[in-house]
This record gives sequence, C-alpha cells and structure tokens, in this order.
Amino acid sequence: MAKQTQTFQAETSELLDLMIHSLYSHREIFLRELISNSSDAIEKLKFESLTDSSLAAFATDFKIQLVTDPEKKTLSIADNGIGMTWDEVVKNIGTIAHSGTKSFLKMRQELKEHPELIGQFGVGFYSAFMVAHRVVVQTQKAGSHSGVLWESDGNGTYTIEESVREQGHGTTVTLYLKDLKEEDQETQDFTDTGTLKMIVKKYSDFIVYPIQLKEETLNGQKALWLRPATEISQNDYNEFYTHISHDPSVPLKTIHYKAEGTMEFSSILYIPSQKPFNYDYRDNKVGLNLYVKRVFIKGECGELLPPYLRFVQGVVDSDDLSLNVSRELLQQDRQIVRIKKALTSKVLNSLKEFIDSDRPSYEKFWMNFGSTLKEGVAVETASIDKIQDLVLFHSTESDRLTTLQEYVGRMKPTQNKIYYITGDSLTQIQNSPYLEKLRSKGFEVILMNDKIDAWFASSLRTYGDKALQSVTAHELELNTEEEKKMEEEKNKVAELKFKPLLDIMHDALKEQVQEIKLSDRLTESPVCLVSSDNALSAHMERLLESMGQSMPKAKRVMEINPDHPLYESMLKASSTQQIEWAEILYQQALLNEGSPIENPLKYSQKIANLMISAGHS
Ligand code: ADP
Repeated sequence: MAKQTQTFQAETSELLDLMIHSLYSHREIFLRELISNSSDAIEKLKFESLTDSSLAAFATDFKIQLVTDPEKKTLSIADNGIGMTWDEVVKNIGTIAHSGTKSFLKMRQELKEHPELIGQFGVGFYSAFMVAHRVVVQTQKAGSHSGVLWESDGNGTYTIEESVREQGHGTTVTLYLKDLKEEDQETQDFTDTGTLKMIVKKYSDFIVYPIQLKEETLNGQKALWLRPATEISQNDYNEFYTHISHDPSVPLKTIHYKAEGTMEFSSILYIPSQKPFNYDYRDNKVGLNLYVKRVFIKGECGELLPPYLRFVQGVVDSDDLSLNVSRELLQQDRQIVRIKKALTSKVLNSLKEFIDSDRPSYEKFWMNFGSTLKEGVAVETASIDKIQDLVLFHSTESDRLTTLQEYVGRMKPTQNKIYYITGDSLTQIQNSPYLEKLRSKGFEVILMNDKIDAWFASSLRTYGDKALQSVTAHELELNTEEEKKMEEEKNKVAELKFKPLLDIMHDALKEQVQEIKLSDRLTESPVCLVSSDNALSAHMERLLESMGQSMPKAKRVMEINPDHPLYESMLKASSTQQIEWAEILYQQALLNEGSPIENPLKYSQKIANLMISAGHS
C-alpha cells in the first residue's frame, strides 16, 4: 500500500498534546512503557507459537535492544516480538482503545496532573512524545514478509506505509529526542549509556528477556516470583507491581507466596493503595496474570480468585498446568480450582495479619475495597469465618472503625445481641430515633451505611454465638425480666388512657400501617415505624427498588412514644385534629428513617396549618 497521511482520532490528538507539553520531571518513565510493550509483544509470540507451529521458528533468542545515536540524538527500542500488521498499527497506536475513550474526560484530567499514570490508561506508547519530537515505528508481524512504517511528530497526523523490516519480525520504536533545555527540569540525556543503565535497573530489572545496550545486558532477567524473597527489595516488588498493574503508586501490601508439596506454584500478589480509575465500571476486566512454566498464558485471569477479591493484582506461575491449557476452559480445570482455593486462603490470612499488625493502613485498604470484600459473606459460605473478622464498621460508641470482635468485647453484661441499623447516610442513621432506647441502655449499635450492608447482615446472621439484630425490627426485647414487669404495669395504665386515640389514629392510617402501638424503644422522638418480623426492612425495600425490583409494600407497625408531651395535647384535641396530626406524625416517621414521603406539598401545607392555628391559640 502506498504511503498515507492519516489524522489522529480527536482524543488521541489531545492526549499527544498533553504529553508533548508535559513539564513532568520524571519523563524517563517513557522507557518503562516502551520496554513493557516489547516484553508483552515477546510474550504474545511465545504464547502463540505454542499452538501455531509455523511460528515456532520465530520464537527463539528473544531480546530487547536499545540502540543510541548521540550525533543524531536518537534512541531506538527494538524487540523480536510478535510485531503488528497494518491494521493493528492503525488500531493500536492511532486510536485509544474503546475502554479508554469512555473514560477520556477522567483520563485527560488525571494525566494533566499525573502523566506517569499513562500506562494505567492503556496508552503508554504516547509517553514517547514526552521526550521525542518525532517517533518512528517500524514493525513486522511474525510470519509476514512485509512490514509497516509509521511516523509522527504528534501534531495531529501520522504517516503510514508498507516497508520491509530489515531484522524480520518484531518492532523498533525510534525516538528523535527533544533538545535538552537548561531551564527545563529534565536534564537527562537518553543517549547516554550510564543514564539508560540506571533507568533500566530502576524500572525494568525484572523483565525476563535480556535488555541489551551495546552487547551488554542491563537487567537481572529472572522472573521475580522465582527469586527468594530475601533477595528481593521492596523497590523491586514495587516496580514489578507497576509493570503488571500500570499503577505507578506504591502498593499497600505485597504477598510473595510459593506453594510447595502436592501442588506447586509461585505467586506475587498485591493490594493496591488506591482504587484503579475503572474499578467500578461494569465491564472492567480484572484478575491475575497466569503463567505456566514461565510462559505467559493469560492476563486478567478471573478464574484464579473469587470476585470478592478482585482488587488483588499479581501473577501466578504454575508448573502443574499444561502449557496447552485452554484459556476458555480454565474455570473447569481441577488444578486451577485448587490454586484458586489456596490463593483465596492465602489472601484472607494475609488480610488478617494485616488488620492485626497495621490497623491504620488496613483502614485505608478498607475504605477502597471493603465493600468488595463484604460480598464474600453473601456469596461464599466457606470463607465466612475468615471474612467476618476482616470487616469494619462505624458504630455509635467509637469514633474509629470497629470489628465485630471489638464490638462484642464492649457488649454490656445484659446485652445478648449485636445491634445494627442500616441506611444510606451515616448522619441520618446516627440520629435515627430507633437508637434512642438502645442509647439509654448503653447498648452500642453498628451503623451500616454501605449499600451492600443490608445484604451482608442478612447473610451473616450470627457472629460467634451472638445474633445480629436490626434495631428497626418489630420486637426488640431490650428489657430485663424485671424491667419488663415494670413496663407492663406502666403500659396497662397507658394503654387504657391512649386506647381511644390509638383507635382514631389507626382508622386514619389504616391504608398505610398495619397496627399502631405504644413504643418501648423511643425516649425522645414521638414516633417511628418498624417492620413486622417477616417483612423486609425499609432500607432493604428501598435498595431493591433502586435495583429496579418493584416490591409490594409490606404494611409496617407505627410505634408512638406515650411519654412524649405531644400526646397529652393530642388527647385534648378534637377528633378532626387528631386525624390530621396522625397523618403528620406518619409522614414524620417516614422522614426520620430516610424514606420518601408520598406528597411533600400536602405535608408542608399541614404543617403550615398547624402553625397558623398555634398562632391563634
Ligand atoms: P497498552 O500497552 O497498555 O495496551 P500502549 O499504548 O502502550 O498501551 O500500546 C497499545 C498497543 O499497541 C498494545 O496493546 C499493543 O497491541 C501495541 N504495541 C505497542 N508496542 C508494541 C510492540 N513493541 N510490539 C507489538 N505491539 C505493540
């Protein structure tokens, strides 16, 4: 095909512009990105040659070569990996992958402030334009007789033409380096041997293929996971993390784990210190990198850990799997199932050590990934025992997050249940009338404000020998036998006194509530609504509704606080007023628990009327 000039996709152009004008002071990371691409390209060729015997001849003597020309001020990074076809060049380095464009706005903002994140967005190649005013890519797909020459100065267009690559299959990226500027923070000369050696050592030492410069190999080349942990520095681990996750920040936790005995595999697992930008996207692919006998088989391998541990990044290398293992059938492979079990257990045990040894860091982890981990209680009964001790909550007693174990340690001698309340916002549930009686008895309540909590609590049900009890349930039975007796005496009197009023109120609200009764849980608020024993809690109902499930509304029980002075006035009021006020109280109960009221306008009018009549009296 003849030489063509093509225009970059608008988003690509914008990204290139960002890179070209970046004043970032660690531009050396471009080399990490390009070497990483070369290493990926070699791994792809190695993998494909396993199943395609025509490629076997190309899959030897792998290497990545750095070639410099200080006169012309160029640096080339050449590999003998899989190479690219014409169409692949256009697709891979002219446009931003689909998942990238979707998050473009976020990407643009982040890259402005942190250009080093570029790899995380799957566009690491463009970092070349931080140091080069012109980039030339000469590539040839393994098995093909002709290659492609791509060239761009990053200003809106690129040229592309057919061209045979002298060395055969593979890719050479040549950078025409920008002039060094005195006033610029960047003073590194990327044609200087010493500089390149230092950069390779710093970012790419663990790459398993030789990175050569003038016959000299610059990197250690040994797969990091095979080296004894005692010989590996935290910096090595961190750089390897950045290599596989494209996240330049330091991971919160590193787990280097070798299984020996009946099953042999090595792994390095990481817990990131921050949420990946696309973590919550539905189509976000997650998972570890799977190697078999040092050969890369599959990235984002979701079969190696359960979904509730999807925040873990890392690599697993197994000697027990066949190199021909089908990527599609991994889930059914018995060895994979065993590896998954061992890794799950290892991660959960490590998290336990983590929470016990470094609570402040663990809490950082929890803020990012706690909701994900909690899913485990609902979906995997086998691990509940472990997960339940890794879970943190806010509570009424403590400013710090608390574990269930710590909560139980603080329980009052007369308390035999773990009380919790669910809701959307912490402030709202903290001030909920449902907590009044518990507070007066000194009982601590766990505040569950995460979307998944209602599901979590109904799955966990008990912790040790203690039942979890929602404070919005019908019968709370907070009193001791003695208190109960006293309460009953008091209630008998109150019931007689309030019976006619309760009847009128129930008559007014019979469409909305199942029953109206005197409360023993309120000490300050006049009214609240509780769910009858078998019904879903109001919070759960709202959750299911927000997920698109229309729920038949279960009628609830309205409880009133007979000690509230409001009812003395109400007893004296006319029956028309009693009906009017009953409606207001019902709406208030809804508002207090965070449920929507059906007709806010009508409610406001009723309150206005109340104020007017108060003004008259
Ligand atoms: P990422 O590597 O995260 O996908 P890049 O922008 O660095 O993002 O590269 C885009 C794509 O271009 C790669 O996914 C790969 O398909 C292709 N590519 C880049 N460099 C090479 C190379 N040296 N050899 C073969 N393909 C490459």
